[in-house]
Amino acid sequence: MKDEQGRGGAGEIAPVPWFGTETVEAALVVCRRLEGDRTDAFLEAALESAGPCTRFGFGCALEELDGSGVGRRRGAAPAAPRAARLLPAGSAVLEAWQSHWSNGYRTFKWKVGVEEGKDERVLLRKLLAALPAEARLRLDANGAFSAAGCAAWMEALAGEPRVEFLEQPMPPGYERKMASMAEASGVRVALDESVATREQAERCGAEWPGIFVLKPALFGAPRELRAWRRGREDRIVYSTAFEIGPGGAAVRALAAEAPSRFAPGFPVA
Ligand SMILES: [Mg+2]
Repeated sequence: MKDEQGRGGAGEIAPVPWFGTETVEAALVVCRRLEGDRTDAFLEAALESAGPCTRFGFGCALEELDGSGVGRRRGAAPAAPRAARLLPAGSAVLEAWQSHWSNGYRTFKWKVGVEEGKDERVLLRKLLAALPAEARLRLDANGAFSAAGCAAWMEALAGEPRVEFLEQPMPPGYERKMASMAEASGVRVALDESVATREQAERCGAEWPGIFVLKPALFGAPRELRAWRRGREDRIVYSTAFEIGPGGAAVRALAAEAPSRFAPGFPVA
């Protein structure tokens, strides 16, 4: 975007429709409507009805134009804490963590619900037998578990201080069930798919007592994320989605505004 003086502001729109965002086509319709000279009121109104990724892109560009928010912090953001390192699914996990550990990683993320639950829990026991006491492990089920599967995992994870949280064990819509199982087992649970966009977060996450994985590029305009995270700052895990350029820088700047105790889920080289 450019202002009257010809100064530019950049934003990135990277929709992920299976997370409940708009499509690229829908984002392009909004972009075309906003081409040319438009008043601020027109822009506000158009963005109000746009999808969350479009609101993120334009919100970032506007903040860069007026030098506020992510525009002010971009480039000046403090170094992000060491990100969580993704481990491979299946038995490869038992080898993979060691080289990451020697490269300084202490927080690991492991996708579960990929193979048979019983087999994965055998691997979990082997992994926990090997991981040092300072290691932190987060397990991401991508909503794959039934209530019975979730209970079996919580039993396996209960009382293990190295397990940071179990991420989205059941699909969106089961937040109450997940909250009561988390409370009964003492295993911390994080929502991800349930709270991808601001609309979803308001619907499924308002009462959530646990942790939130937030992907700012899918959530909405930066100001919407700031409003929503108020009072929840210490329960947020920041994560990237598929944004790469200005979007990635803005996501890091947003995370740096309200540092979290959780290692972010940012891509690592
Ligand atoms: Mg996840």
